[in-house]
Amino acid sequence: MPKKHLGQNFLSDPSILTRIISAADLSAEDTIVEIGPGPGRLTRMLAERVRHLIAIELDHELYQRLAGDFIAYRNVEIVHGDVLHYPFEALDVFKVVANIPYYITTPIIFRLLDAKQNLKSMTLTIQKEVAQRIVATPGSKDYGVLSISTQYHAESELKFIIPKEVFRPVPKVDSAVVHMIIRSKPPVSVRDEKLFFSIIRTAFSQRRKTLSNSLKPLGQDIKSVLTVAGIDPQRRPETLSIQEFARLSDFLTK
Ligand code: SAM
Repeated sequence: MPKKHLGQNFLSDPSILTRIISAADLSAEDTIVEIGPGPGRLTRMLAERVRHLIAIELDHELYQRLAGDFIAYRNVEIVHGDVLHYPFEALDVFKVVANIPYYITTPIIFRLLDAKQNLKSMTLTIQKEVAQRIVATPGSKDYGVLSISTQYHAESELKFIIPKEVFRPVPKVDSAVVHMIIRSKPPVSVRDEKLFFSIIRTAFSQRRKTLSNSLKPLGQDIKSVLTVAGIDPQRRPETLSIQEFARLSDFLTK
């Protein structure tokens, strides 16, 4: 019986699993981390293609079943635990391929970006709406904190949509596979990364307002700073490119 509170919506269609594997652009030498292997169908396909597979499952029942099923696979490590507490920093170069539990989609993405030193790419099956936010560009309704934060660290592509009807049990929303390649260097350089992200969060906390209003909590003469930075204070946060946020951040750092 699938456990709803653990985000258990399983995928078994072999043609979709094959498309996920092909989107991940794997090589035989790769170390792969799979988050939430569940019944282990994607796990088995991955295990047959790569040098080393680490599969992290929180559900104890599923973990025990997986540990038995994969006992003969010398390249597979089944780990019992919460992915959010896994020490990714201790791994050598690795890629992530996973149909992740949707109740913690953004915490997982931010945890992985936080440990990005040896992370090469992530190929994630996530809610379609979240995938659209990740790849959104300025001016669209989906563009916001998640778009800028992920685009700062990775180059992302929405590969394909998976209709909800192919999962068991059927979830409420459609899914999408997003492939994110970690950048060796961010697309903009900022003097103070912490301030840069804090400006973005502040701006989008009131996305309907103009910048001069939404950025008031920063406590400076924000209208003048925006003008000096060459950004019209009447614009709304969702129209600013990552380069413009970087420029504004550097003017506020001065
Ligand atoms: N990979 C399988 C598939 O595609 O059919 C299962 C995907 S299901 C959407 C998510 C899986 O993540 C479930 O097996 C669930 O038990 C597991 N899970 C939930 N929370 C987790 C956590 N915090 N850490 C690791 N695994 C978790």
